Amino acid sequence: MSPLPLITAQTEEKLLAFLTEHGHTKFRAQQVLDWVWRKRVTTFDAMSNLPPALKNLLAEHFRFHTPEIVEIHGSADTTRKFLTKMEDGSLVESVIIPAAVAENGEKSERVTLCVSSQVGCAFGCKFCASGLLGLKRHLTTGEIIGQILSAETIAEKRVNNIVFMGMGEPLSNFDNLADALEIITSHRGLEIGARHITISTSGFVPGLKKLAAYPRQIRLAVSLHGATDEVRDQIMPVNKKWPLSQLIPVLEEWSRGRNQMPTLEYILIRDINDSPKDASHLVRIAKRLHAKVNLIPYNTVEGLPWKRPSEERCRSFRDAVHKARIPVTMRYEKGHDINAACGQLRLRKEQEKNGSTPR
Ligand code: SAH
Ligand code: SF4
Repeated sequence: MSPLPLITAQTEEKLLAFLTEHGHTKFRAQQVLDWVWRKRVTTFDAMSNLPPALKNLLAEHFRFHTPEIVEIHGSADTTRKFLTKMEDGSLVESVIIPAAVAENGEKSERVTLCVSSQVGCAFGCKFCASGLLGLKRHLTTGEIIGQILSAETIAEKRVNNIVFMGMGEPLSNFDNLADALEIITSHRGLEIGARHITISTSGFVPGLKKLAAYPRQIRLAVSLHGATDEVRDQIMPVNKKWPLSQLIPVLEEWSRGRNQMPTLEYILIRDINDSPKDASHLVRIAKRLHAKVNLIPYNTVEGLPWKRPSEERCRSFRDAVHKARIPVTMRYEKGHDINAACGQLRLRKEQEKNGSTPR
């Protein structure tokens, strides 16, 4: 018998449909959600203003569960990465990125969580640890939400900013992602504003089409990493199926009708995409899309040949983009020393399990 569905994976719409089917009112659905998300109870018994018959009904059809936290790396005032074990034993990694000091010198209250959307990834980008072991499976809505609940336990704070930049390609797990987004953004859920959520995609065009039609103002980051098909083909197999001639129009479609600019993520990899010519190709695409650019000097992954360019080379790439009046930032991964780039922690753990020696 498969386990009962998680109450924390129910959107308001789904819970309401269930309760009305069983003769209850909308008000009851609101009460239940209030217990789950405002009061954060973890048993149906604790929902003291519900009639016993309703508590029993809920307990017969749903359950509470948060994933087991198996490893935590880093300390409270730095990036903290943690690994959780799903009920089938799958390992999932997430990263808590603490409040940065705001421009006015005051400590901001921002707590960002980088969540995974899949166990592994099918897209096989050549530079990425998540792609190395292939795709094991999608994460369920409850498992996506579970990462947020676990992070709040670890941080002892509410998460108020979410980036889908952990393992996996979120747009290829669209239905579970969409339900998770409803729960995250709902004022009867985690109540995090759509503008505080970013989805990162490697350029999965069918998923981007769905996202273009999605009504909420979620932010979009595109892992471009190469501004010509030649470069992208070399490092990102997704580009063979959906080259720039398909990716760019769908990004334009996404921008139309919403007042948002996409961010182009661009990992700088030595001798692959870091020349002045690469910068000028990137500028051309960013101009066309009215996009911001986020440069990330590559984090080395054990067993992969790619290297980070020198600091000077990274800076001159950034300056070239900046001179062309494209909003550009360069982000050194804070978690370089704790294997914080996508998929690296899980990869190490899987290697340990299989007996190969990590560095
Ligand atoms: N699959 C999605 C989201 C997860 S990856 C995507 O590809 O966008 C989140 C980001 O981390 C992507 O931009 C990805 O390219 C980047 N990344 C992967 N491996 C990296 C590494 N070793 N160093 C720096 N960034 C890396
Ligand atoms: Fe998958 Fe993104 Fe890694 Fe590519 S960069 S393998 S799409 S997780």
